[in-house]
Amino acid sequence: MPRPAASNHAQGGISATATTRLGPDERAAALRSLAGTELQVLVVGGGVVGAGVALDAVSRGLSVGLVEARDFGSGTSSRSSKLIHGGLRYLEQLDLPLVREALSERSLLLQRLAPHLVKPVSFLLPFTHYGWERVYLGVGVSAYDVLGLSLGQTRGLPGHRQLTRHSALKLAPALKRSAFTGALLYWDAQVDDARYVVTVLRTAAGYGAHVASRTQVTGLLREGGSTVIGVRATDLETGADLQIRAQQVVNATGVWTDEIQAMVGGRGSINVRASKGVHLVVPRDRIQSKTGIILRTPVSVLFVIPWGRHWIIGTTDTDWALDKAHPAASRADIDYVLSQVNRILAVPLTRDDIEGVYAGLRPLLAGESESTSKLSREHAVAHPVPGLVLIAGGKYTTYRIMARDAVDAVAHGLPGKVPPSCTDVLPLAGADGFVALWNSRYSLARSSGLHVAWIEHLLGRYGSMTGEVLALIAADPQLGRPLAGADDYLRAEVVYAASHEGARHLDDTLARRTRASIETWDRGVSAAEEAATLMAGPLRWKPRQVSREVANYRLRVAAERASQEADTDQDADAIRLGAPDIVPVVNGDGATPALQPHS
Ligand SMILES: Cc1cc2nc3c(=O)[nH]c(=O)nc-3n(C[C@H](O)[C@H](O)[C@H](O)COP(=O)(O)OP(=O)(O)OC[C@H]3O[C@@H](n4cnc5c(N)ncnc54)[C@H](O)[C@@H]3O)c2cc1C
Repeated sequence: MPRPAASNHAQGGISATATTRLGPDERAAALRSLAGTELQVLVVGGGVVGAGVALDAVSRGLSVGLVEARDFGSGTSSRSSKLIHGGLRYLEQLDLPLVREALSERSLLLQRLAPHLVKPVSFLLPFTHYGWERVYLGVGVSAYDVLGLSLGQTRGLPGHRQLTRHSALKLAPALKRSAFTGALLYWDAQVDDARYVVTVLRTAAGYGAHVASRTQVTGLLREGGSTVIGVRATDLETGADLQIRAQQVVNATGVWTDEIQAMVGGRGSINVRASKGVHLVVPRDRIQSKTGIILRTPVSVLFVIPWGRHWIIGTTDTDWALDKAHPAASRADIDYVLSQVNRILAVPLTRDDIEGVYAGLRPLLAGESESTSKLSREHAVAHPVPGLVLIAGGKYTTYRIMARDAVDAVAHGLPGKVPPSCTDVLPLAGADGFVALWNSRYSLARSSGLHVAWIEHLLGRYGSMTGEVLALIAADPQLGRPLAGADDYLRAEVVYAASHEGARHLDDTLARRTRASIETWDRGVSAAEEAATLMAGPLRWKPRQVSREVANYRLRVAAERASQEADTDQDADAIRLGAPDIVPVVNGDGATPALQPHS
């Protein structure tokens, strides 16, 4: 394959037709572009790391494509604890550079890159000994606060406070008095992880990246026996195969890294191990507290995290070698989380309090070969053969650093000079103008006819793109009503998920664009019919497809519930796999493309 000699800038970067919209027409156009041109960079994997790589590369002026096998963010990046944090655990291990880097990212995301999506959250850290523990933890949390002041940025968060047991109980009356002697209150940040991924991808698309979900890489194109010159992929919506040529392929598939490495004959250099973490969701009224809570557990820490009208509680940490797309939570996982949180609650939680459960897989580095350039204890970049860069490990908070390191490695394989990363000064879609809109929320409420609480909800999810959602409501006021069965969301948000946010199936909307699947007692089942009917417009579904989507969603929920009754991982996995992965879209002529088998 001849390499264009033109400068990098001439080939990629911002185009006049680029849009942040990720609807069905934009997906079709992206697939045409991916198949029809040689890119400079093709990213495999649409989790937070792949999305970050696409944005980093396209904003350096490179021509970029990204393919994701399932829904954007549907791997680990929608199943985390949703914290943007330095990690007190790493501080305890005295890994100060790592903590400092993560806290610096936290400030950047909170204040400059995504103030609409990343929000402050406080945690109470109870302790059980008098004297030495308060001093020990106090020094640690002070260091955490000080490390957060870096690179000329403010933390964007208040400093920590020491609390007596009496004042801690005022903040968190749910705590069992006998379970602690005093506490510290400190601040971190949180994000809706799945929504953040889509926003990074929309930003990248706005700069000209060609982005397609439900497009699975099945092999690598090679030249001269070793050099990678692109990929073979399948559009899972139609079954069509395509070849995508690229000067550099970046693998950002997280826990699937080994599968891509196997495509270069096992010449991999990063070993990724999957570790399962399970979270429970309970209603806010089950735990009386004005703040989140963090506890030490025998193996790690457990968070009780405020989440709208709910609490998220987790997590576990166990090896997982079964299905990666749908890690299943077992009865044992759920009982473990309940037993840990109940150590400090005056009124214990039971299984009857649980609204939602989700499980995710940590992509942990498990030893690297010599060819790996290990950039931090958490993530690694490798260049096992010409034309292929691997990036893996790390955590959500530092995705931007991982992306920068991966694109720096890509730059070595490209002709011409590639500019340095600029994502530290690149606000995400919806960030520009957010503060001014927030200040105008009462007048927005008056002009739209929505209660100000809804405007705040929309601004916290779409930032300055809120106007696009309000325009849908202005055109059809019925869309300004809450979604029946998941009334924390407006019907317009379901339409917008399909028209602008890349949702292609009901599961995408109920599990990731909204969180109805973990925030409602019936896990989104009673919202399914209305949501599918609303998605049918932008996705041009026929009534038969609406029924198939609803039926598939019900099967998924039933399989998940049943798996959570199983005693072992093996049983839970087998039961969860009883529900089909995705519903192919029924074509106009009634033909149905082949079902995608589980991977
Ligand atoms: C329980 C848990 C809690 C966590 N909590 C936090 C936290 O609070 N804060 C924090 O900073 N970090 C946290 N993390 C870590 C963080 O979530 C992950 O490090 C991060 O989401 C990994 O992103 P990724 O893009 O590497 O992987 P993923 O999000 O898994 O993305 C990889 C993508 O590649 C796609 N893919 C795979 N194979 C192919 C193929 N052949 N073709 C095309 N696409 C393919 C997959 O479908 C997937 O979407 C947590 C992790 C877990 C599991």
